[in-house]
Amino acid sequence: MARVMIIGCGGVASVAIHKCCQNAEVFDEIMIASRTVSKCDALKEKLQGKTKTKITTAKVDADNTEELIALIREYQPDAVLNLALPYQDLTIMDACLACKVPYVDTANYEAEDTDDPAWRAIYEKRCKELGFSAYFDYSWQWAYMDRFKEAGITGILGTGFDPGVTSVYAAYAQKHYFDEIHTIDILDCNGGDHGYPFATNFNPEINLREVSAPGSYWEDGHWVEIEPMSIKREYDFDQVGMKDMYLLHHEEIEALAKNIPHVKRIRFFMTFGQSYLTHMKCLENVGMLSTTPIEFEGQQIVPIQFLKRLLPDPATLGPRTVGKTNIGCIFTGIKDGKERTIYIYNVCDHQECYKEVESQAVSYTTGVPAMIGTMMLVTGLWNKPGVYTTDEFDPDPYMEALNKWGLPWQVVENPVLVD
Ligand code: NDP
Repeated sequence: MARVMIIGCGGVASVAIHKCCQNAEVFDEIMIASRTVSKCDALKEKLQGKTKTKITTAKVDADNTEELIALIREYQPDAVLNLALPYQDLTIMDACLACKVPYVDTANYEAEDTDDPAWRAIYEKRCKELGFSAYFDYSWQWAYMDRFKEAGITGILGTGFDPGVTSVYAAYAQKHYFDEIHTIDILDCNGGDHGYPFATNFNPEINLREVSAPGSYWEDGHWVEIEPMSIKREYDFDQVGMKDMYLLHHEEIEALAKNIPHVKRIRFFMTFGQSYLTHMKCLENVGMLSTTPIEFEGQQIVPIQFLKRLLPDPATLGPRTVGKTNIGCIFTGIKDGKERTIYIYNVCDHQECYKEVESQAVSYTTGVPAMIGTMMLVTGLWNKPGVYTTDEFDPDPYMEALNKWGLPWQVVENPVLVD
């Protein structure tokens, strides 16, 4: 039925590709296109013969719009699913625009070179005007709204778990449970253990940039920014147990603040163990998280990229990770004049994911929604020219698909709240 080009072949892409192949009725042809084509070929080799989906592979440099345009014109996909890095969002969106092909991703644009003066001038103006200093924000991609509308193509921004499923949960809560949502707490708990002293569960560079940055939350119509990891809470997660969690800036807060009427406060918490935080602080203190290139023995190296080489590849954590993730949102608000509180969440088991698709649960909980968002688009269930986050479509078919494709959710009334 649909022919989809998937860009990137890392941890998240591997899961999304497995799921597309399980869903051959919708995805009858896919192309896996990435920088290292041998990874695409190896995955094709593994899946071919076990699926009706026809798989082809290609080498592409997704930083190069002309190269992308040539490949899209040759393959003629119904949609492009970007599972490379947030650095490539804009080049891939430009190529989609030029070819009038719909676009899907899981993370909002982030500049690779944060020392680039042109980027920095815009960034610093935004920090001042909006009041949060994360390196990523939606302004770059929302700027494509009119051009996508004129081209008649849909762009779905951020269909991973968080952002992605968390924003669909918000749309679902708004549609079925509340007249007004007043607060949203997004809780991302990974109770998994991979046995390494230090490793990240998705791309280390993106992950460490995110968690070492100042935290921020939305309250009464503006951002409140805090020192990194300076707000800590404990929460007892279903099927995981008591965990420490820390307030972070996260991209769906920006979209939900714009799209959920009446919302007064939105916060995002992620669990971290003490060992992770100690390693991260130490790496930060010695300069290993820096994105500024330095000269080393005649070569320019970026410290955080060098660190990425040393750390375990997240795609290899699958066989050794045990435990569960629990990700969801607590909503408070009003229904029929009465106060109401609900918690919508999913619990996912690392080893079950590994048995099914040979990946740990962090890649799984991102790759499954990436497939589902793309399915919403190519089946026409979500089709609205322009660029939109996942809270801006009908949540019902997506929520149904989560149950069907491996991320079942539950709704609990009157959960324990976060202080
Ligand atoms: P990986 O580093 O494992 O994979 C990235 C892939 O992109 C690799 O195959 C890499 O190629 C390829 N790639 C990188 N640069 C280029 C380029 N210039 N041209 C072509 N291909 C390129 O990352 P993950 O799979 O962990 O993450 C993928 C995306 O998912 C990221 O954007 C991440 O932020 C997002 N994410 C979203 C989450 C959510 O819940 N919304 C949660 C987790 C991740 P190579 O093999 O050569 O390195």
